Parts: sequence; structure tokens; C-alpha cells
Amino acid sequence: MPNPYPRSRHPQVPLPSPNPPPLSPDFPYPGLRRTGDANSPRGRGLVATATFPAGSAIAAFPRPLLCLPDGEHVRTACDWCLRPGTGSSNTDGGGGGPDLGEVRPRPKLNACTRCRCVVYCSKRCQSAAWKAVHKLECPALSRVRDGGEGKWFIPTAVRCAMQLLLRLKGADRDVRDAVGDVPFVGTTSGSKGVLEGNVHGFRDHEDGTVWKDLGAQARAALQFSGIELEGNKLAAAAEGVRGLLCKLQTNAFDRRDEDVGAAGVLLDVDLAMANHSCLPNAYVVFAGRTATLRAERDIGVGEEVEISYIDNNLSKAKRQKALRLYHFECQCRRCQEDLDVYQVCQSSSTIPLNILSLQPDLDLYKDPPIERNDYVYDAPRPPMDSPNYALYHMTVRLKDKKMYAIEPFPSLYHQLVVRYETEGMNLAYALAIACFLATQCHPYGHVAPFKPWRVKGLMIIAQLLSHTAPLSATGELGKKCGTTNTSRVLVEELAKMDQVSMCEAILRLVVHYGPMAHSDDWEVLASARELLDDIAQLQGRERESAAIAAWVRDPEQPDARAFVEEMVLKPINALAARSMGRVFYESLCGPHSVVPDAHPQSSMRRLVYQP
Ligand SMILES: [Zn+2]
Ligand SMILES: [Zn+2]
Ligand SMILES: [Zn+2]
Repeated sequence: MPNPYPRSRHPQVPLPSPNPPPLSPDFPYPGLRRTGDANSPRGRGLVATATFPAGSAIAAFPRPLLCLPDGEHVRTACDWCLRPGTGSSNTDGGGGGPDLGEVRPRPKLNACTRCRCVVYCSKRCQSAAWKAVHKLECPALSRVRDGGEGKWFIPTAVRCAMQLLLRLKGADRDVRDAVGDVPFVGTTSGSKGVLEGNVHGFRDHEDGTVWKDLGAQARAALQFSGIELEGNKLAAAAEGVRGLLCKLQTNAFDRRDEDVGAAGVLLDVDLAMANHSCLPNAYVVFAGRTATLRAERDIGVGEEVEISYIDNNLSKAKRQKALRLYHFECQCRRCQEDLDVYQVCQSSSTIPLNILSLQPDLDLYKDPPIERNDYVYDAPRPPMDSPNYALYHMTVRLKDKKMYAIEPFPSLYHQLVVRYETEGMNLAYALAIACFLATQCHPYGHVAPFKPWRVKGLMIIAQLLSHTAPLSATGELGKKCGTTNTSRVLVEELAKMDQVSMCEAILRLVVHYGPMAHSDDWEVLASARELLDDIAQLQGRERESAAIAAWVRDPEQPDARAFVEEMVLKPINALAARSMGRVFYESLCGPHSVVPDAHPQSSMRRLVYQP
């Protein structure tokens, strides 16, 4: 029988098309061309002019029109490159998480000495920011700060609008070409700007609250910018700024690089053309001021490059609600056929890549181990007045059908890992749940093994193992775990496992997939390399290290595969299995139960990747 899953060789270099179109100076991206216009059914879009294999970078966008930290991060992250600095009390990115980027020392941030409102990680960032926008913004921020007697806060959207207004006033061509003129602000050129704003959509949105809020933000932006107008002129300018805010809402990216503690807004005029699909073939990652578009699966010449503006693993109803602010009805196959996570997984072209992963049984992806029936669960139920009663019932239904990859299960389990780890409540529970996520949730929800969320999930397991392994060796792990029976069993089982080999194999996966997930200098990758260096110092592990290295080189090499199967995959699955049952019940209903965050909903921006 022919092998239905031919092995991919992970080609990473895009193949040029035989007749690449000439590059235009205003769209300098080899491999991409623009399509459509404002009147096309789907507006503008991006089309591949070369072949991009899964995991390759399609294009980098290093010169955004706007890039600034979220309002609450202005004192803790560089105002130019968004790098968090020392004294930074971390971020709220996706509810916080294990700090995967902690290996890189955080720079000391220095405030602008004139306005003392914004901070920079280096002189270079400061002078670049000054030239680009801060020389216009600095006096305005100073006035806002003085007006508030030193206390000030400007909502992110308002500050974005301020920057654009001040640049328009200074006759900045890039801004004018992008967003168009605003009446009575700067010189008028008749430009409407290339960005789409869906103004009518915002005006007619639901009960009008969004439209009213945008109006208030527009007036605040004019006032804070020191643009003094009265009467009809003020009204006309405010309407113009409201239109500009609509364009911002429609086109800007919310970037939550939670592993490095950076959060902010990025607007790139060219990248903004990428259309949405709930079955995207590409995704966007951020590093500094650069956004990079990456292929999630193989993309052929002439294929439209599509990203997801929202968390595309949500249910159809939730996706449509989240997309309402973009004012279009998604017509992708996932929406039309209302496919769930498992159905999407079954037809994914990236299944074969999983031969090198913690879930290498490719048949499981084609035929997921779920039950589409209505079996009734008869485990102990939480009291009716428990805060998590509704959640328990929602998730227990998924649990009965073993549909662990369907939200809110993965989000909830991720929160549990963070909680058990960061609050020091139970390292063994955190590890078991992290193993469950990496074997039963993420592979189905993010089929390409290089998806950032999957790689981060691996890194969390590796970091937990780097803590539990030495504690197991000295017999002290029990003190870091709860007193339940499940905890005791987990601690005993862990003591029998080769946790260092498990950790090393997982780190090798992170190092293998990290450059495809993000970039060669991704913080997660730096942490993984650091931990691998520590492991390399351990004596007498030559045989194990050699087998793991051989497995990453060729996951089908029989000896290497047998070693990893026995020493890594079986133990990971054993830990994962323990996280069901008691841990599940306790987490939702026990004395330390979590009250989950509401799913973070973006009010204005594309959620690029989120928990
Ligand atoms: Zn910086
Ligand atoms: Zn300043
Ligand atoms: Zn869709």
C-alpha cells in the first residue's frame, strides 16, 4: 500500500516563479502582488507570485505607518521598538503567561527628557522615533501631561490618531496617501487614502455605541494634538478624524507578543491588504517594528494569501461576532460548511509534518479519537452556586466526547498551566496539563507543528521539566506539589522518568520549529538554546543526546524512533492522561479552582495570535 503521508523535507526556501513580475517601487515585495480595488467584492488583496512552502517567510514589512505600545505599556516598553525594559511589570498579554523570553536581559528604559511621557530602550530608538514622529508629538504630550498635573493617560486609539494627525499637519505624504486628508488639518490634496474604513458599517453598528465612542476619541485626538478649531470647522475635522479612526480599526494589528511582554498596535499599509479567512494559509508574527507574513501551509503561484483576523478556532457564531467590526460576512469553507476544529484538521495538508512532533501518529489527525455522540457524564458535579458551574457543564460535554481541541477547553487548560505554575501551587499538575495540551489539544487545533502557539506549548513543558527534574533528583518535588493522591502519584511517576531526556527532546523540537514559527532570533528560541546548553553540561548522557539528535534529523530512523517512543513520548502521554479526571474536576470545582478570563475580544484590531 502506498504511504498516504509522504514525508515532507521541510523546504524553507521559497521557489521563484518562472516569470516573476517586475517589482514596483511602491510595492517592493518579491513573491507578492496586489489584487482588486476598493470596489471588488473582497476589496484589495495579496496574491502569491512565487511558491511558498509551509513554514517559509512570505514577506517582511519593516516600515509600518504606525507602531506604538498600548496605552498601559507606555512606561514599560520602548516607544519605538516595543521592547519591554527593566522595571516593566510585564503585560496583560492574553492573561499573562510563563515568561518564555526571560533569558534575554531587559534593557534599561530612558524617558524622553522633554515630555517625560515615553521611554526608549536605546539612543538609536530614541533618535529614530524623534525623526519619524516624536518631534511633532513631544510638545503635545507635554501639554497633556501638564494639563493633568503630571497624571495622564491617552487611550491607544487616540494616540494613534494623534500621531497621524500631527504628521498630516506636517504634510507627511505617507500618511496622506494611506488615510487621506482630514478637513482643516494641514494642506488639502484631495487624497482619500488607500486604506478602507467601512465608515457606514461603523455608523450602523449595533446600538451606535461604537460610533459614539469613535466620535469622542476623534475629538480627544484633535484636542490633545493642539489643533484648535471651532464651530463647523471643528465638526468637519472631528468627522474626518472619526473616518480615520475607522480606517485604523479596520486595518491595524493588535500585537500581543506575550512571551516577551510587548503589546501594541501596528499599522502597515501593504500588509493591511491581506484578506481574512477562517482557513488561512498564512499568519503574521512581529519582531521589533517588523511584521512578517509566513506560510501556514504550501502556497502556490496565483493563490491569494489570507490570514485570520480573529481566533479562527472559535465557533462559527463567535467568529462571526468577532468579524462584525470588519463589516463583512466570511464566505470561507469553514464558515459555509460550519466545520469544527477536528474537521478542519482532518483535511489539513500539513498533517505529514507531524511525523516530527509529540503526536507523530498521523492516522490520529486523519481520524481523530473523538466521539460524536451524546454520552452522559456521571462524575461528581459542582454545587449549583459554584462560579464555574456553567463552565464545568460546557467543558464536561466536550470532555465526554474527547473533543479537547474545541474552545473553551484549550484556553481553560492553558490558564490552568499558568496558574499552577506561576502561583507555585502544583508543578506536577502544571506539567501534566501542559503535556495534555501539547498532545490532545494543540495538534488538532494547530495542525502545522511550527505554529507559534504549538512551539510555545512545547517550551512551557520544557521549562517545567527543567524545574521538576532537579527537584525529583533530590526528592524535594513533593513539596512543590499538592497533597492530593493524584499529586503523589504524579510525583512518584515523575521520579521514574528520564525527565532530562524528555526535556532535551522537546527543546530540540523547539529549536527545529522556532525559525519556521517566527524567526531565527525569536525569544522563545533563545530560551530553548540556553536550556540546551545547560543540559549539554550534564555528564554521561552521550547515548541519549545522540538518539534525540538522530530522531530530529530523521524521525523514522528505527533506533532513534524507538528510543524517543519509550523515553519521551510514552512518559509525556502518561502525564497527560493523569491530567484528566481528578485534576480536571479539582481545577474547575476544587478549593483552588480557576475562574477563567472572558475570552479576550478585540474591540478594534486583528488578533493575530492569541491564547
Ligand atoms: Zn527600542
Ligand atoms: Zn518627548
Ligand atoms: Zn470564515
